[in-house]
Parts: sequence; structure tokens; C-alpha cells
Amino acid sequence: MRAIRGATTISTDSPEEVKVAVKDLLEQIALVNRIEQEDIICIMFSSTGDIKSFYPAKAAREAGFSACPLYSSTEPDIQGALKLCIRVMVLAEIERQAHHVYLNGAKVLRKDLTEVVNIAVDGPAGSGKSTVCKLIAEKMGILYLDTGAMYRAIALQCIRQNADYAEKDSVKHVVEKLKIKIEYRDGRQVTLLDGEDVSDQIRTPQVSLIASYVSAYGFVRQKMVALQREIAKKTSCILDGRDIGTNVLPDCRFKFYLTASAEIRAKRRYDDEKYKGSEQSYESVLSEINERDFQDKNRAIAPLKQADDAIVIDTSDMNIDEVVAEIIKSIQEKV
Ligand code: C5P
Repeated sequence: MRAIRGATTISTDSPEEVKVAVKDLLEQIALVNRIEQEDIICIMFSSTGDIKSFYPAKAAREAGFSACPLYSSTEPDIQGALKLCIRVMVLAEIERQAHHVYLNGAKVLRKDLTEVVNIAVDGPAGSGKSTVCKLIAEKMGILYLDTGAMYRAIALQCIRQNADYAEKDSVKHVVEKLKIKIEYRDGRQVTLLDGEDVSDQIRTPQVSLIASYVSAYGFVRQKMVALQREIAKKTSCILDGRDIGTNVLPDCRFKFYLTASAEIRAKRRYDDEKYKGSEQSYESVLSEINERDFQDKNRAIAPLKQADDAIVIDTSDMNIDEVVAEIIKSIQEKV
């Protein structure tokens, strides 16, 4: 039997926040320790006195952890202690070493245990990277960093400033002056171009194609890769892109390469775009995918290719849940 410790914090005392925080904490503990409900002997919570709105034990039951005894208590108020904090001890019938989990602000309690984990997911357009990464990030309670958004923001600025994307100096002029920042609001990545939220404007087919051209310039990649490394160094995150495993984070422990036939990827994009109201034909989506593949694979600097140590997943005949499950299984096997 093992005792697994964990803690998390909430930002305000509300039943909703307690429920979400407890669910995330227990799911993360179960995930990294590879435990099933039937392995759990009991779960005991304690929370700081400023949490009065909901019992963590009840939140655990509502989150589906109902097959074992649950217990909550309130801690004494201690000066200088972390506020709005929920601690847990899970007793589980496992032989393996326990992995303790500290989320949100509770990380400060155990800096020694809260190492930054990065997961690299590369692959061509339409291979399912972004959907898969968002789901994994949610399940693991880590950030999702969509690196393509950064190249897209540069493409958007080129369009706005009428810069010729085939002209190196013209793009250089744009890039020198622009400031790209990534923020997270309500768990969602927001891409800021000179302070403006352009998260929606960067999703057009024109931006996709121009992003593929501008991302081939060394000075563009240098600037974006520095930003990506800075975020990955500080934060546990899953990053998707073209060169994460090969160039951005070559020492990353968890690397995946998603792929699928061009026709299937084009069909997925076509269905998505149609759903959003686009009238673009399947043939034109396919030709765009092929053009982007060619550009991304044949550029001189950091071309799209699988890292030697990446796990390759052909998603052609898989649904999203299957891909997510396969990636999580591979991560668990290595943890
Ligand atoms: O992934 P997404 O389709 O948003 O990426 C847009 C373009 O940005 C890609 O076609 C690729 O040329 C470029 N890109 C890149 N390296 C990354 C991510 C995206 O070159 N890490």
C-alpha cells in the first residue's frame, strides 16, 4: 500500500471551484500513479479554514470517486500559511513508488516534487494535434501551447501591413517591430499581437498558407523558438508544432509524431471549415494541405520531420479518444 499526497488551491471559495479543483487533483493523482478506482482504499482531505462553501469529500464523490471511504477536515488557521488550499492523502493498493501531485499555487509547498514536464507533439496540418493536445492538457492539468499560433500571428501582421511574404527583407521589417505574447485566460491560449487578441483572426486559410511561408525564415524561427523555450522551461505543458521534438526541445522526455494521409487530413479540415460556414471546396483544402506539407517538409531550417526518439501515431483510422488514450498510456509507461 502507498500513501499519495497532493494539494491544490482555488482562487475564490465557491462550490464550483472546489468541485473542479478536487476533480483535477484526484484525476491527476490517478493518472500519474496509474491507479484505478478499485485500487483506492480511502481518500482524506483537509482544507484551510477559508474554504467553507463545499466539502472536498463531497466534491470527490461527485467526481466519481465514490467506491471508497472519503473524509474531509478543516485545518487550523496558521499565520502565513497558503490560502484557499485543499490537501489530500490517497491510500492506494499499489506497489510502485507514489507520485505526489501539487497543482496550481500549491506547487510552492513542494517545489522538490513539482518538476516541469514537457510533452512534444509534432506532425503535419490536420493530423489532429491541436484537438488531442487540448484534451491531454486538460486531463493532466498542464498548459497547451499551440506554437503554430505564433507563426500565424506573424503571417497576419504581414497581411495587415501588405508585406510581401516571399521577400525576406519585407518580412524581417515586420518581425523586427512586432511583439507576440501568449497568455492563458480561463485555461485557453490567447495570442496577442502588439497587445491585440488575434486568436480568432489567425484561423483563416490565407493565414495558414502564409504562416507556412514565413515560418521558413531563420530570423522568424529564432524569435519564436526562444519564446517557446521560455514558456516550456517555466511551465509543464504539451506543445504542438513541426519541430518541437527535433529542435525546440530536443531533450524532451515525451515526444510524439502524429500523422495521417493527406486525403484524410484534408477531409477533417474540410468538415471543420464547412461546419464553421466556409464554402471552400474539398479539392482546394487538399491542395492547400499538400502545399503546406511541401513547404514545411522541404524548408532548410527545422523542417517538419519526426524526431528519432518520437513515438509515431498514424491517426488515419483512429478517433480522437483513441489517440489521446494511446499518448497518455505511453506517458504513464515512462513516468
Ligand atoms: O499548426 P498550424 O497549422 O497552426 O501551423 C501553421 C504553420 O506554422 C505551419 O504550416 C508551419 O509552417 C508553421 N509552424 C512551424 N513550426 C511550428 C508550428 C507551426 O513551422 N512549431
